[in-house]
Amino acid sequence: MRTRMVVGNWKMHGGLAANASLLSSLRERLAGLSCRVGVCVPFPYLAQAGEALRGSAIAWGAQDLSEHSQGAYTGEVSAGMVAEFGATLALVGHSERRALHGEADAAVAAKAAAARGAGLQPIVCVGETLEQREGGQIEAVVGAQLDACIARLGAGALAEGILAYEPVWAIGTGRTATPQQAQAVHAFIRGRLGPSGAQATVLYGGSVKPANARELFAMPDIDGGLIGGASLSIAEFEPICRAFD
Ligand code: PEP
Repeated sequence: MRTRMVVGNWKMHGGLAANASLLSSLRERLAGLSCRVGVCVPFPYLAQAGEALRGSAIAWGAQDLSEHSQGAYTGEVSAGMVAEFGATLALVGHSERRALHGEADAAVAAKAAAARGAGLQPIVCVGETLEQREGGQIEAVVGAQLDACIARLGAGALAEGILAYEPVWAIGTGRTATPQQAQAVHAFIRGRLGPSGAQATVLYGGSVKPANARELFAMPDIDGGLIGGASLSIAEFEPICRAFD
């Protein structure tokens, strides 16, 4: 169902003491907001997030998972294992996974299917590089990323999860898509999902900060944000979560 939402992606940051402080601030400061809030934490901290956030309105989840349910896959973590910690979310296909770990569209689709199979809501990340944008390939690239998931799950099931448009050139660079640039791709994403597109939750990610969140989230097809760097500080994350108010 289409929902306003802000999700933090801690990436490979954190430590038990710093997490405890951030999680308790999230719990205290982000109750009763008009949007849903979630955090995706490194695997070792799922239990800590579960303990700290259980009973709160804040969802937690992983930043990746295996497409396999169990077996001889050393170093991998299955969706079922993530779900056992009470997690409800899992990022799949983040551009850092695609670029640094060679995750292809079909593998991302298999991970989204594994997440759903374990009862998690996948957050499927899509987006183009600067070279692809400048080469006029945005729709070809984002369309192919979506089509792999549609072929595996069906558009209806994909739209029950969450999609995140994250232009690679805007992630961690301080360079944000303009609201109009982001809106154009969000509208394209909904269109690619056909009739299910109107029901999908589609987040924008890429250097979202307190100063730009409000104008991005005001666009008609943007339902909120996937926040990297700014999710590590309550002083930055809170105003982003309040950008709908
Ligand atoms: C991300 O990691 O998904 C992200 C959007 O990062 P940042 O907000 O730091 O650009």
